[in-house]
Amino acid sequence: MAEDQVTDFEVEEVDSPPPLDPEVAERRRVALQQVRQYGDPVLRTKARPVEVFDDELRAEVARMGGLMHDSLGIGLAATQVGVLHRVLVYRVEPDAPVNALVNPVIEFSSDDEEWAEEGCLSLPSVHVEVERPMFVRVRAQDEQGNEVLIEASGLEARVIQHEVDHLDGVLILDRTPKDQRKEAMRALREALDAA
Ligand code: ZN
Repeated sequence: MAEDQVTDFEVEEVDSPPPLDPEVAERRRVALQQVRQYGDPVLRTKARPVEVFDDELRAEVARMGGLMHDSLGIGLAATQVGVLHRVLVYRVEPDAPVNALVNPVIEFSSDDEEWAEEGCLSLPSVHVEVERPMFVRVRAQDEQGNEVLIEASGLEARVIQHEVDHLDGVLILDRTPKDQRKEAMRALREALDAA
């Protein structure tokens, strides 16, 4: 996938997307109903660190992975499903296992940055350019509580940064240039009104 077609992260949004199989489209519609949409105050709330690694947490991670899969996303933060836990899931390769990061901390970001277009499952019809560091090192835990250290670049680095932003109540609208934000807000209001 070309980097300039990155979206939250929906992978099928290209200039002329092929029509989705009706069953896939229906599953996506149902999944998106469970993803909080712009205007919901939870999206502006900072999530709290996870302290207990129990079956409930693992069920939450599994549910998020399922929703991400069904909504054709490549990343999802817990805040987007109304859970104020510092948990995110992502998968940049379609058939790879879902990665779950609990309590992620970006401990290094490269000075080298690049622009790419992003979308967001919580912001229908929004596609804006965001400049982000190209490389990050992230310390986190998995859903069992084991320490994980991830060195990510390119799309993986971008997805992680987008989802960590969600955990801090930050949206791509906050990170894009003003002219793009204005246009995106218009598209967003139209999409939300039509929903
Ligand atoms: Zn998003």
